Amino acid sequence: MTSIFMLSCGSKSTYVETVDENIDQDGFTYQVDQFGDFKIMRYQVPGFDELDLNNKILVYYLSEAAKAGDEITWDQNYKHNLLIKRTLETIVENYSGDRETEDWNNFMVYTKQVWFAKGIHHHYSKDKFLPKISEEYFEMLIKKSNKGNFPLEKGEKVKDLISKLTPILFDPEIDAKTVSLDSDNDLITASANNFYEDVTQKEVEDFYAKMKNEADTTPISYGLNSKVVKVNGEVHEQLYKIDGMYGAAIEKIVYWLEKALPYTETEVQKQSLEALIAYYKSGDLRTFDEYCVLWVKDVDSRVDVVNGFTETYGDPMGMKATWEAVVNFKDLEGTKRTEIISSNAQWFEDNSPVNPNYKKKEVKGVTAKVITTVQLGGDCYPTTPIGINLPNADWIRANHGSKSVTMDNITYAYDQAALGSGYTEEFSWDEEEVALVKKYGHAAGNIHTDLHECLGHGSGQLAAGTSPEALQNYSSALEETRADLFALYYIMDPKMVELGLLPSLDAAKAEYIGYIKNGLMTQLRRVELGKNIEQAHMRNRQLISSWCYEQAKADSIIEKKSRDGKTFFVINDFEKLRSLIGELLTEVQRIKSEGDFEAGKALVEGYGVQVDPELHKEVLDRVEVLKLASFGGFMNPEFIPVMEGEEIIDVKVEYPSNYVKQMMDYSKKYGVLPTYN
Ligand code: ZN
Repeated sequence: MTSIFMLSCGSKSTYVETVDENIDQDGFTYQVDQFGDFKIMRYQVPGFDELDLNNKILVYYLSEAAKAGDEITWDQNYKHNLLIKRTLETIVENYSGDRETEDWNNFMVYTKQVWFAKGIHHHYSKDKFLPKISEEYFEMLIKKSNKGNFPLEKGEKVKDLISKLTPILFDPEIDAKTVSLDSDNDLITASANNFYEDVTQKEVEDFYAKMKNEADTTPISYGLNSKVVKVNGEVHEQLYKIDGMYGAAIEKIVYWLEKALPYTETEVQKQSLEALIAYYKSGDLRTFDEYCVLWVKDVDSRVDVVNGFTETYGDPMGMKATWEAVVNFKDLEGTKRTEIISSNAQWFEDNSPVNPNYKKKEVKGVTAKVITTVQLGGDCYPTTPIGINLPNADWIRANHGSKSVTMDNITYAYDQAALGSGYTEEFSWDEEEVALVKKYGHAAGNIHTDLHECLGHGSGQLAAGTSPEALQNYSSALEETRADLFALYYIMDPKMVELGLLPSLDAAKAEYIGYIKNGLMTQLRRVELGKNIEQAHMRNRQLISSWCYEQAKADSIIEKKSRDGKTFFVINDFEKLRSLIGELLTEVQRIKSEGDFEAGKALVEGYGVQVDPELHKEVLDRVEVLKLASFGGFMNPEFIPVMEGEEIIDVKVEYPSNYVKQMMDYSKKYGVLPTYN
């Protein structure tokens, strides 16, 4: 529910710009690869060398634990993904034919896209993408890589592998979508992800309805860590745990977490990791909640980690969590900024425009920090969020608070890689706009993220008796809408300047300009022509922007202009736009608090989904000219222990730049799951 992505949960308009050149101000090459619509960047880890040895070792072990679970995510996305991954990698390693041809190049682009998406479905649109090679060429690749160990099942021959994989890879109709949010269909049977097998939406709903006790005020996150299957006509859960599903990878994760334990910095950090280990062993979601509570309380440690089945974007039912990991340490200087925000949390809650009944009387434990990311794994690698706010369970957030982070070295890398791309100029109406965005875009973007994460998600409360699941398949989009609205409402508040968070409200104008432009227009570059918007965060951004545009049209608060056949959206009245944002925030909070499914659905379907095909085409054409990659991902740095006998006496950080090599190395080192789980 609550990762914020540069591209996806983004709220980030100012960061989506990309480049095809490596001009980096600080002498570090950020972008290292580009293929199709994707680019691979690197991030630096400033401050790592200054950490004490204990912290460095902790980072090293937690980083290993972050990579150990990587294959779980592949399998969760689609049940054939590990077979495909292993086949493609065997070809990359062993193909004895010509590697200088266009076909080979197309094969490598496809392989990199599969790595990037952790499977054959686009990480963002969730649609299956096809290789730009022929079936015959694919067959030849396999035959000429025959020395390799293809992942064959017992008694299977290479030709069987070819006939099994060919339709899966080349037929667009087979498993066309990994997550379908089209509520006219059965959400489960229309989705090709691996969270369910041979069951219908109705069967799953009934299965969990029976389990739930509506009177429970501290409910577990039902279904979070399992696959639902039918055995002999009965619906069952297969738990993800050390002696259950994904056990081979979980065993490695636990191994590294146990190594990390002696290097924990505080008692509560130690207890939290112990609870996480216990949960990986038992699969018990009560233990997971205990872990979450301990994790929230661990605020004094410098090093921190997210490791587990966390976000539910990959499940159209919003229950099953995809595995992810982020290792990080606190950026002490940057954290002063978020501390100002969180220490004023009650003021923001009290002064928000929403119905007083739906405000938190007492905002609890909003802790926020700026972090330096050191390792990404699972669903966060290579496409990382730029901010995280966890845990997700509403009752834990209400009773114990939540922890919110802004990943500054990632946003910095995006910004560095984006300099000089021509993107801002192309979509800005005039010089003044360009100047505002260039001057304040980075700072304002960071504040937006802080507000979204520290305050937005944590604000408000449900009316008594409202089920947290009432908004069903619209809940992710509406939750992100709520958090973004909260951030947008307050970024234009004089309080920002008073607290020293922004130099002036001109910075807030830069955020509004970027946000509205992105929501109404530029984010469409990430949608295929002819398709509507599926992704929850994109829906949220279009919902806000187009709702405001529609209300604002009569008064020209936001004006659609055109020049040389190009469309621009220009904000004429920032104050009035802010009032509209406040109005919509009030309504979206009401929808969440009352669980008003119909109103939520009407907002999302009415404003967040449909795309104007003409404008869409125009955006794609304009982006095409700039040769921008629409999606960015990051390679990880490597941490190398310096040994003296059995003892680690230092840890060095290196920044590799070869994406193919990193992926191939990871597979060798961390590829422990059976091909089918
Ligand atoms: Zn969010």
